[in-house]
Amino acid sequence: KGDPRLQAISQAIRVIPHFPKQGIMFQDITTLLLNHKAFKDTVDIFVDRYRDMGISVVAGIEARGFMFGPSIALAIGAKFIPLRKPGKLPGEVISQAYELEYGTDCLEMHVGAVLPGERTVVIDDLVATGGTLSAAINLLERMEAEVVECACVIGLSDLKGKRKLHGKPLYILVEPR
Ligand code: AMP
Repeated sequence: KGDPRLQAISQAIRVIPHFPKQGIMFQDITTLLLNHKAFKDTVDIFVDRYRDMGISVVAGIEARGFMFGPSIALAIGAKFIPLRKPGKLPGEVISQAYELEYGTDCLEMHVGAVLPGERTVVIDDLVATGGTLSAAINLLERMEAEVVECACVIGLSDLKGKRKLHGKPLYILVEPR
């Protein structure tokens, strides 16, 4: 915090009220991707944090975790693992269901993508309840990966997403405007 780049990153994120439904303040990171400096600064901040932490895996959550994760992985010399919605990955998968506000959803990961003990960072655009990140942690830990931290561009602080993260550290850059 106190990093002057964070204010510009925050301002590059567009807020769209009532999307995809009434009452949701949607944090739209596609406008961040349109701003080269803000996009690069976002990736650089994560890269600076993770480059010397012995991380060999960056796991990104579909779909917006895919927009940041691979750039971070390449820069720190790690591999990238996509954690996907059901039925998208062609190989053998393990699945993890998780709670949504209404109903449940599921994430899948390819068996063999991560090796036991590999130090892993999980990345997504935003944490709200933490349910999605929690499912990601479960998948990785079922494969005996070591989840070092979860990282998101945006954190909704009032939703206490941290409680669901199995005590894993959560690194966020900005809070919603
Ligand atoms: P949660 O599992 O409750 O922490 O929700 C996080 C997931 O839902 C992330 O994959 C986000 O991309 C998405 N999400 C939840 N709330 C919002 C929001 N207000 N704006 C944009 N994406 C959101």
